[in-house]
Amino acid sequence: MQLRYSFRLYPSAGQRTALARAFGCARVVYNDALRARETAHSEGMPFPKTGDLSKQLITEAKNTPERAWLAEVSAVILQQSLRGLDAAYRNFFDGLMGKRPRMGVPRYKSRKDTRQAARFTANARWSITPGQKLRLPKIGDVRVKWSRTLPSSPSTVTVVKDSAGRYFVSFVVETGPEEVLPEVSPELGIDLGLGHFAVLSDGTKIDSPRFLRRAEKRLKKAQRALSRKEKGSKNRDKARVRVARAHARVADARREFHHQLSTKLIRENQAVAVEDLAVKGLARTRLAKSVHDAGWSAFVSMLEYKAARYGRTFLRIGRFGPTSQVCSRCGVKDGPKPLHVRVWTCGACEAVLDRDVNAAVNVAKAAGLAVSACGAQVSRAPVPAPRGEAGTHPKPSTIRWEQAGIPGF
Ligand SMILES: [Zn+2]
Repeated sequence: MQLRYSFRLYPSAGQRTALARAFGCARVVYNDALRARETAHSEGMPFPKTGDLSKQLITEAKNTPERAWLAEVSAVILQQSLRGLDAAYRNFFDGLMGKRPRMGVPRYKSRKDTRQAARFTANARWSITPGQKLRLPKIGDVRVKWSRTLPSSPSTVTVVKDSAGRYFVSFVVETGPEEVLPEVSPELGIDLGLGHFAVLSDGTKIDSPRFLRRAEKRLKKAQRALSRKEKGSKNRDKARVRVARAHARVADARREFHHQLSTKLIRENQAVAVEDLAVKGLARTRLAKSVHDAGWSAFVSMLEYKAARYGRTFLRIGRFGPTSQVCSRCGVKDGPKPLHVRVWTCGACEAVLDRDVNAAVNVAKAAGLAVSACGAQVSRAPVPAPRGEAGTHPKPSTIRWEQAGIPGF
């Protein structure tokens, strides 16, 4: 399988200029190819082949005065840019055929895009110098902050500049499933909800950790400060950079949280099941913001590749529907319940069920996993009756299941 390893990159001023040129050339070739295909389509001509476009838009274009500057960057970047367009078309067509979530038609890239990227393959003769720098053709030896070691030599190298002006390099490495972990017995269903980031079939409720909430708070503050600045002012530009940085920090913190949680769940469980949320569909509704914020799809894909990597089972069950309508203990379907109902008693078996955990157990059961429904049952621990109120019924308590954060990180 393929894994991606990312590291922070610190190019010098000259290297930043060379990278800007590389990003620009990659973008121009991409847009030229997109235009050629759109023109062919509107004229009823056949879809231009990548090989033909490569010859016409790279090899021949370099000899024209308008595109002579394409020769200033590694030809591999330009070839890879065409491959990127191919992938965008493939995803688009696969979406149309229902093979994957629907994607938009490939669109033109702009120098104002928040993410600029250029990709090198092995035949671009990039290398890692004895001094641990990344040597890129026509760019130079760039300083890298190596935070991990690569398990084997990478097939591709992508240099990215994000909206906060930071540079990263990401390596794609081919690895076998050689890291199979010793077998464990627990199996797990996960319900990704709005109230909590995730609820597990064993009764654990997981919220985003403090470091992520703190980063989010800082982002909100930066955004408020930006909205107060006068349009076109110097201070507004500064505030905009601060917002971009805060954004990047939130994205990093969220990715870190997803990594920690997905690694923990895959290590501790032999099989993990999630409900296919069809996040793409949900993302168009009013729940859109919380869906994007929670970043479920990124989290689920981490679970998936880590399961493959560590020899665990990952199961995605189709949207089988009303997880909250079915009792996870006896299987009786007793109808929909309004969202504010968090705990109810099953009319058939009298189990007292927690809404979110019940859903997680149902997800596990639908995937054929061996989980017990007892995780979904709220045990009514005897609450000491306050003086003077003895004889009234204590409110059912769900606090027992609340676990803020994840212990053991
Ligand atoms: Zn029941």
